[in-house]
Amino acid sequence: MSFCVKLSIGSPVPYQVPTLNLHGHVYEIEVSFKEGINNYFTSPELEFGDVHIGGRRKLFGALTFRYSYDAKRNIVRVCGTDFPSADGMAFITRPEGTEQYAYEHAANAGFAADEVHHNRDWNYNSPLTPGAAKIFKDIARSANEALIAALTATNTVSIQIRETLPAGLPLEHYLKLSTVHNPDGKLIGTFDPAHNYGEGVQIKKLDSYYGGKWNVPVNGPFANVIGSTPDPTHSAPSWIALWIAAYGGVTPVGCTSLNFPSTVKCGPVLIGGHVIDGEVPAAVASGSNDVMILPICHAHNNNNKVYMEAITRQNAIWLSNYMN
Ligand SMILES: [Zn+2]
Repeated sequence: MSFCVKLSIGSPVPYQVPTLNLHGHVYEIEVSFKEGINNYFTSPELEFGDVHIGGRRKLFGALTFRYSYDAKRNIVRVCGTDFPSADGMAFITRPEGTEQYAYEHAANAGFAADEVHHNRDWNYNSPLTPGAAKIFKDIARSANEALIAALTATNTVSIQIRETLPAGLPLEHYLKLSTVHNPDGKLIGTFDPAHNYGEGVQIKKLDSYYGGKWNVPVNGPFANVIGSTPDPTHSAPSWIALWIAAYGGVTPVGCTSLNFPSTVKCGPVLIGGHVIDGEVPAAVASGSNDVMILPICHAHNNNNKVYMEAITRQNAIWLSNYMN
């Protein structure tokens, strides 16, 4: 099972210094997603200009990134543009006829193995090529944005985007969403700063299971996770705070599954509901990557007989290695 999306790669603005010439090429490439976890995509090498090292050589560039694709449920997982992982989008350049590959990652992070400085001749982090590194980084960044936009535009694929925990989550919520586990790993509950825990308990921080954003298709079905939190009534306001922090601090208005099905009458108060993709409410094993948080009303949150649809919004957050 596989599917394709198309996206543009390149920067239309030419660049010229004595040692490097970029022609402003923009290409449309096809990205094929194959079923499986931790797959690599690498585009064909394309010509972007020329470089003057030991004579004039063509400069080739290619995109590469890592993804997972669950074909059965149509879920694709990719890195967000700022996610500091070597799995994220990178733009690789190489002068023709050499093995001197230079990686420019979308995210800002030190990927020692990829250091461009290791190349003897092809090094664009030099005073001779001012601004070139930024051009290549911007190519990687805009390619990743284009990739996520193209996946979203298919309107059939559910997209998990790996991201770091958003800034701006109040500390009290952060603590409430951290979990406490027995020495054997079994979940005791959410962290209570006032409680005196016994020796050997493990406190798992929210960072360790915040996965990032999850964009579901328009009207995509989802259902409650049964038994999702040790104490849903207490933790609910914090889960919505996490969602709000992830989406720029804007308080959501209107239940995600507004008046669907028609037997459910939505209330005005929204909580961060633990839900899963699909039409069947179910318990989820700890360690799962399938749990997402969407703003839903109490009526929906308390009804495990129906499924819901992403009607008023499609932007969820997902929990990685849930409660494990
Ligand atoms: Zn509702």
